[in-house]
This record gives sequence, C-alpha cells and structure tokens, in this order.
Amino acid sequence: MLKFKKTSSVPMAGKEPTVPEGLWIKCDACGELLYKEDVKQNHYKCYKCGKYFRISTRKRLRLVMDKGSYEKWDEGIGNRDPLHYPEYQEKIESLQERLRIDEAATCVKGTIHGEPAVVCVCDGRFLMGSMGYVVGEKITRAVERATEERLPVIIFTCSGGARMQEGIVSLMQMAKTSAALKRHSEAGLFYISVLTDPTTGGVTASFAMLGDIILAEPGALVGFAGPRVIEQTIRQKLPEGFQRAEFLLEHGLIDNIVERENLKETLAKLIVMHRQVDPKEALIPNRRKYSVPCAAEEEKSSQGDAYTENTSGKKRFSRADSGKRKEKVLPWERVQRARAQDRPGALDYIQEIFSDFTELHGDRHFADDGAVVGGIGYLDGCPVTVIGQQKGKTTKENITRNFGMPSPEGYRKALRLMGQAEKFRRPIICFVDTPGAFCGMEAEERGQGEAIARNLFEMSDLTVPVLSIVIGEGGSGGALALAVGNEVWMMENATYTILSPEGFASIMWKDAGRAPEAAEWMRVTAGDLKDLGIIEKIIPEPQPANPQNVGKIAGMMQEEIRRFLHMYLPMDGQQLAEQRYQRFRSM
Ligand SMILES: [Zn+2]
Repeated sequence: MLKFKKTSSVPMAGKEPTVPEGLWIKCDACGELLYKEDVKQNHYKCYKCGKYFRISTRKRLRLVMDKGSYEKWDEGIGNRDPLHYPEYQEKIESLQERLRIDEAATCVKGTIHGEPAVVCVCDGRFLMGSMGYVVGEKITRAVERATEERLPVIIFTCSGGARMQEGIVSLMQMAKTSAALKRHSEAGLFYISVLTDPTTGGVTASFAMLGDIILAEPGALVGFAGPRVIEQTIRQKLPEGFQRAEFLLEHGLIDNIVERENLKETLAKLIVMHRQVDPKEALIPNRRKYSVPCAAEEEKSSQGDAYTENTSGKKRFSRADSGKRKEKVLPWERVQRARAQDRPGALDYIQEIFSDFTELHGDRHFADDGAVVGGIGYLDGCPVTVIGQQKGKTTKENITRNFGMPSPEGYRKALRLMGQAEKFRRPIICFVDTPGAFCGMEAEERGQGEAIARNLFEMSDLTVPVLSIVIGEGGSGGALALAVGNEVWMMENATYTILSPEGFASIMWKDAGRAPEAAEWMRVTAGDLKDLGIIEKIIPEPQPANPQNVGKIAGMMQEEIRRFLHMYLPMDGQQLAEQRYQRFRSM
C-alpha cells in the first residue's frame, strides 16, 4: 500500500504536467510553452510531444458524456475521521472549496453517444485521488444502483491508493467496492475500467483491475507498488517504461490502450457490443430464408462438396460438380497446402466475415500471446466472440506470433474471452490453425498442459453455441484446446492430427523422411476426419485457399456460419452444453 503524505515517495507529485490557469501553459515533459486553447482542442494532450495532461473531473465528464445528459449521484456523504487525524477535516473542506468537487470520486448517470451508463471519475487533485470512506461509499452506491437499474458502469481510475488518514477503514473500501462489482457482474452487467495516470496501490488492487474490459490512456502509470517504492525495496533501477500502459498491454493485464480523442466513441461501441444477445432477436436484421437442411443429410459425401452458383444465381452446394474435380490429392499434398506460407490465416477470415471486429488483449496474468487473437465482431448485427490461432506472414510477424504456436497465455486469453462470451450470451467462433502448442521451457514453467486441460474442461459446458473451424493445421492438443465445439468444421485442405506426420514417422519407423507415407496412415485430411465422425462439415476450396480467393471462400464460410447460428442460437444453455457433451462422449 502506498503511503500518503506530502513527503511521500509516491511518484506522482510535481513532475507530471497539469493544466494551470492562464492563457499559456508549460509542458513539463518537453518544456515547450503551449497555448492553452490549443491544448484543450487537442483533448488536453501536449501538441508538441503528445504527453497527456491530467485532467479534472469536470473536463473528463465533458470529454466522454453527452452534453447536459448527466446527473450527479450521492454528493455530500458525510466524511468519517476514524483516526481523528490532525487537520484532516479542514483539508477536505478547503479542497472541496478550491476544486469545487465533493470528493476524490464523482459518480454520475448519463449517456455516452446516447447509451445510458453510470460513470465514476476519480480526481488526482483531491488528496491524490486516494480512496477513503467517502470514495469507497460513492463508488459502491453507484455500482449498487447501476445493478438495480441494469446499467453498465465505467470507472476512470486515478489514485495514489488507499487514504492513509483513514487507516484501516480505507483498506476496507477495497473489499467493499469489489463486492459491489461482483454483484453487478453476477447480474450479467457490463463494467469498463479506464486506467488513467497514475493508478496505484489499493485502487489497482480492487476496482481498477476488475473490468470486463480494461482500457488505459497512453503512458499511464499503473501498478500496485509505485516505482520508487519498488526501487527502494529491491535497490535496483527499474527499466524505462516499467508499469506504463504499454507495459501493461504487453504483459496481458489490459485489453487495450485508447487515445483520449477516441475514448467516447470506444466506450459507446463497447457498451453496444456487450448487450446480451437475445436468441430471438439475434440475426433478425438480415435474416435470410433458409430451408435449413439438416447438416448430416446434406453432406453424406465424405469429400469436399463443390460450391457453385447455378443459373438462378443462387449459391448452393452441389454434389454433381464435385466429381469433376475429384482428381486424387494425396494426403501429404494437403499437409503442404495446409502449411503454405500464403495460406490465409484467422485474421484474414475474421476481417472478411465479421464487421467491426474489435480485438481484445491479454490473459490478465502474464502476457498477451500474439499466437492467439481474439475479440468481438458482428455477423448480421449479432455480436460474436471470435478467437483464432494466428501465424505470421513475414519473419518479423512470425516472431511476434511465434509461428502460430500458442503459449499458456494464449489459451488463457482465449478462455477469458470465452467466459465473457458466456456472460454476455455471445456465440463463439474459433479458427484453428497451429502446428501445435508451443513446446519450450517457459511454456512448461507456466503450465502449458494445465492451460490446455483447463480449456477442454471449461469449454465442455459453455452455455453458448461454440463453432470451431480448422482453417490450416490442426496440430494436436494445441488445436483441440480451441476445438471443443458444438460443431467442428475443416477446410478442404486443412489437416487435423495427433502429431505431425514427421513426428509420427520418426516415432513409428524411426525415419522422419517417411512423413508422406505417415500422412496416408494417419488419416489427416478433412475427408478422412469426416468419415471418422470427428468433424461435421467441410468448407470447400475450389482452388487451394490463397490471398486472391480468400474473399470467395470466406463468403461460403460466412453463409455456413449463419446457418450454424440459426440452428444453435435458439437452443438454451443446458441443451447446448448437453449436445457438446454427447458429441465428444460418442467418440
Ligand atoms: Zn510536451
């Protein structure tokens, strides 16, 4: 817990830029003299160096709320002075008068681009935004009332931590606010925390880190113990950028960093995306008339069906045509196609199939794994959680994405997003494309096996529809960890295996060179797996997928996904879990 006193080691006092009165202000970061009106126009950012100025509650509310839309809640709660700390009451009163705010937190109900929300703003000018009884009480009451009125909550955090002048009472505010947020969450309601500079101590260790979505302003300092406290404790200099928003993103602790000018837009968009999906309402805007043929009946053939446009221009599946191109493709050739460098990846399909895809980051524990991408997009107006394993297209990207081999953090990110999908009743679509889970020392240290097992365990009874599509390589457990679906599909040239044909050949015959032969034995192709009853559907590739035909293939995939959602969205949670259980139970 951070100490709060004037001589404290809290790293916020003095050095950071603030906006004083007058026409001109000086940026403490770059030393430039700035015209105040221009700074205001620039969303209170230095227009020379980009440094964010800390802003007052009033300015913050003006930046995010619709003009004249909000009312303040719970002003004037009497302060408590449990320690009878000298001059504490006088200090509070003088701050109230000078800053013209009630306390270090202000809670309002209003609208953001027309979306109703409860918004709490912490103000660093008021005793460093520290949390005492009144701050805890105001936030708790706001969250409780939001729960009653079924409203989303947004909290802008800015705090040096718990308020030392109130001793242990201050500490209890951490538990009190967190408990209220738990009830809000259990009611299926949406909470966004926005971390601003600085957020430390007891606020970080309570409501700041509990958002369904956690956003941060660029460069914001966020940590439990402040950097100077850490440096004094471990007697080492901390690296540049330590505990800044960018550091947090890289370490999987936040979903994203948002520029101030995009904040209002982003908040409104996220609120809309997190409305719970009503199966009866979902997909209605563009609802198409399907004769919803039974998937099993339609695809008795084990080989990929041809997707054609007939004379009436309507797309349909036709088995007659598939004979034409039934030139024998060897399994080993399919393995090569599945691994092809230019084969479209998860993000290519996501961009083609879903609109307004918003990527979310991090496992909230250790890192943001580039080998797994995830977020929320729309299909015909229905919000969908989309998760995919992603390889790189260039060497540089392959390093970021670890060649599509997820680490435990990747699986934990996926599971975190699936949990949210369940909370907000969104269907889940997974794109599987990995040579396998990352095999390395660090992955083992952090529990690769546990991470995969946990996904199998938790995915098995998710109460929303889950569809997994193998788009390239389905490498063993690393693939299965995203493929516990109500249905699993494969692209015509995708493979799904217990291990690579090379590995199989070297284990069985001590000769990796016999991989092509192994591919025959192992039954790795979509056709084989459909025969074995491991998958439900094959997405045809009239030509092997490549950047030129990705749009066309994605179009077919989208059509099939629609069909899937129409079939599964009306099912209730228990039915969905039971169907998925029986699917794997029969194998
Ligand atoms: Zn500057």
